Amino acid sequence: MKGFATLPKVELHVHLDCSLSFEVVKRLLPGIDFATYKKQFTSGGKCTNLKAYIELAISAIKLMQTKESLILVTNDLVMQLVDDQVIYAEVRFAPLQHLEQGLSPEEVVATVCEELAKANQNHRIKANLIVCTLRHYSEEESMATVKLAEAFRNQGVVGFDLAADEAGYPIDAHRAAFAFAKENNIPCTAHAGEACGAESVRETLQVLRPQRIGHGVRSIEDKKVIQALLTQDVHLEICPSSNVVTSVVDTLKDHPVDQLYRQGVSLSINTDGRALVDVDLAHEYEQLMQIFGWEKAHFLQCNLEAIRHAFISELEKEGLREQLLAGYGGLTSDKKVRK
Ligand SMILES: [Zn+2]
Repeated sequence: MKGFATLPKVELHVHLDCSLSFEVVKRLLPGIDFATYKKQFTSGGKCTNLKAYIELAISAIKLMQTKESLILVTNDLVMQLVDDQVIYAEVRFAPLQHLEQGLSPEEVVATVCEELAKANQNHRIKANLIVCTLRHYSEEESMATVKLAEAFRNQGVVGFDLAADEAGYPIDAHRAAFAFAKENNIPCTAHAGEACGAESVRETLQVLRPQRIGHGVRSIEDKKVIQALLTQDVHLEICPSSNVVTSVVDTLKDHPVDQLYRQGVSLSINTDGRALVDVDLAHEYEQLMQIFGWEKAHFLQCNLEAIRHAFISELEKEGLREQLLAGYGGLTSDKKVRK
């Protein structure tokens, strides 16, 4: 891994329900073999589109309907993050997808928050939670989700996200929830510019006004959208291999991450789904190094930008910066980092 395995990392975009390891699935479904796990819980490398990718998460979500299973899956992801030397993570999921066996939305969020809090005490990681509303949700469901973000803001929920099928549903049903988030100072991100083009990013910026965009890679199609990202200082949570899996790009060589970086857009490197995409950050960094010639300074810059746009206090950011810079052995990033 040429040193990337041991470097400290920050991950802002990782879905809990897209990251179940074989070990945790085996505990929840005793008797499952590796080939069946690969087929049901990973993408196998390529999906026809984002919708097909999202459907793959259904097997995992079915297994995550009790407190016990949510605890196991949360711990499983924490251990994957710790192994990948992630020092700060914002983990996300949609709580309303976990009510099939009688849990209340509050019980679902409380369970995951409590496990993340334990992880923060027991491991060299700080992990917070982002709750997601989904594109196909009604206005009521979206409002119910953002109110969970508000209710649990002192227990580890740091933000609100809009996820799921960008091409299949408009953003109209989510205007009220994002307005509520703004009024109540709940930081927001939203998936856009993944299954749809730059126009979707423009609309998301104008209507939902998030501080960050999940993916946003198709912003590259429109100079004005790039300019808007720069002017408004909106951060892109980029997940390169995930975009190959969902056929946003054919191969990593075709990915606009290097162009976006060179145009000065604030961005970070993320996995999206550690099981579905079948990647960790060490491996992702290695691929970017090989394809685009990125060096440690590039990754330091991406991680500093991730910290700058993390949904945490300035004091916490300062501590993470120190930890990160110590891990990079005094290296400076290839750009002047804004604070
Ligand atoms: Zn995502």
